[in-house]
Amino acid sequence: MARDFIHFFGTTGNKDIFFKNIRQAGGLFLNIDDTKIIIDPGVNTFYKYIHAYKDELDGIVLSHIHIDHSNDLNIFIELMTNGGEVNRGTLLVPNQAIEERILQPYVKSFPKEINTINPNTQYKIKNIPIISSIEHKHGVENYGFIFKTSKGNIGLVTDTVYFPELLESYKDSDILIMNVPYYIQDKLKPKHLDISNVEEFIKKIKPRKVILTHFNSNIINSNPIKIADELRRKYDIEIIVAEDDMILEI
Ligand SMILES: [Zn+2]
Repeated sequence: MARDFIHFFGTTGNKDIFFKNIRQAGGLFLNIDDTKIIIDPGVNTFYKYIHAYKDELDGIVLSHIHIDHSNDLNIFIELMTNGGEVNRGTLLVPNQAIEERILQPYVKSFPKEINTINPNTQYKIKNIPIISSIEHKHGVENYGFIFKTSKGNIGLVTDTVYFPELLESYKDSDILIMNVPYYIQDKLKPKHLDISNVEEFIKKIKPRKVILTHFNSNIINSNPIKIADELRRKYDIEIIVAEDDMILEI
């Protein structure tokens, strides 16, 4: 049986971290249920992918247009379709990516199917149904997703500030991957999720496993391994601190 896994190419989107090459920016490669999906291909994801894999992709998913998520989008469409020669694969992108030409017009005809994301809607890439979340609050059009696999539901909570309605979107997650740049952020000017928000997710959703990723200097300087240990003890669930090029068996 094929190995089911998620490859984390990079674990930051923050300029203070990846401009200084402390951690790498980059996306995810989900290879589960014989379905191969690139998610949020940021800077350098393409080179890392072709260095590691020869697989044909079934789809590409973009949560929002920020460059640490979208930089390699077009080249992955070229890869998936062999430069447009083979009309294959499914693309799932926010409408803003088309409007603002983050998705270059010339590659639009290459994939077999392009879906613009509506909130709380089910899509499918090969064998994996994907449900979009409520729209996140991140200054640009942005969604997270639940990937419904045979190994359980994998929630991907992409960039957002916390608001309670988020929990409803992710409530069926067995595994939660969370973009958490902050240990503690300014409560008056929140920009992303912090660990207190992660605790709300754990209490309400009770996932069996949480993977923390997309770090900035705030959480890195606060020792994420120690933070994960504390959460593990407090809630008795598995907490993983993502590392660059980590391959997580699912
Ligand atoms: Zn962002």
